[in-house]
Amino acid sequence: MIASRRTVLAALAAGALTGCDRPGSLASGGRVTSAAPTAVAGSRAPGTVPPAAPVLSRAQVVARYGHLRPHTWGFGGPGVARELNTSRRVIALTFDACGGPGGSGYDQALIGFLRRREVPATLFLNSRWIDANPAAFGQLAAEPLFEIANHGTRHLPLSVTGRSAYGIGGTRNAGQVYDEVATNQAKLRRLLGVPPRFFRAGTAYCDDVAARIVTAMGDRLVSFSVNGDGGATFTPGQVRSTVTGASGGSIVICHLNHPESGTAQGIAAAVPDLLASGYRFVRLSDELR
Ligand SMILES: [Zn+2]
Repeated sequence: MIASRRTVLAALAAGALTGCDRPGSLASGGRVTSAAPTAVAGSRAPGTVPPAAPVLSRAQVVARYGHLRPHTWGFGGPGVARELNTSRRVIALTFDACGGPGGSGYDQALIGFLRRREVPATLFLNSRWIDANPAAFGQLAAEPLFEIANHGTRHLPLSVTGRSAYGIGGTRNAGQVYDEVATNQAKLRRLLGVPPRFFRAGTAYCDDVAARIVTAMGDRLVSFSVNGDGGATFTPGQVRSTVTGASGGSIVICHLNHPESGTAQGIAAAVPDLLASGYRFVRLSDELR
């Protein structure tokens, strides 16, 4: 029983995360503005923002990792968190906002449900989504219920050789890996007052050298163990059955940038199921060190 469920989850996890990458699907759905979001009120007093210096400079990353060749490509790798370090009945719901051609919509029904039921979640936000949704970003970032994480600058698979995932060309070298992580990291650090702790690559794909770079930059690279909405392509019923199949320690990936998808309805059905089975929900920082 358990083995068969794990097999199903593994198969689903290997499925497409096309919600990140549907060309032009909702690119016009979100209001694009050039106005930069303002810092989150109350997150940290002006003048006390720590210096923006990253752990490593771009030149240091290129010098240390630029000559290394990768050996793996996928959702795992050195230092990549695919599950929580526990078998207790806790589950981390994570929602990506991919931005750009991957969609800059905002699923208010989904977020409204999480608020009403006080379900904590980790939100992986891409730089372009933040630019397109400054007001929503400010609200989400000010709520302790939600933890803000980094979903990249251009939403690129994280490669040191330009490998592709779902037809999206990845970063081409160690310097571009640095840029993909650090640019949005600096934006979030400026807006939040503190740097986000977690990074998920666009499409969630990475190679092992890129994974080592993210770790060396002081970030925790996060993948997933349950593909909850199939890249925002699942029906509500599929989302419900997949997410309800999560087990203790699961990291569930879904999307908040496709309000037309079945994600909100599916999550609203799955959460009561899981609560009734004794599960509770956590943000990544509640469990991952
Ligand atoms: Zn994405």
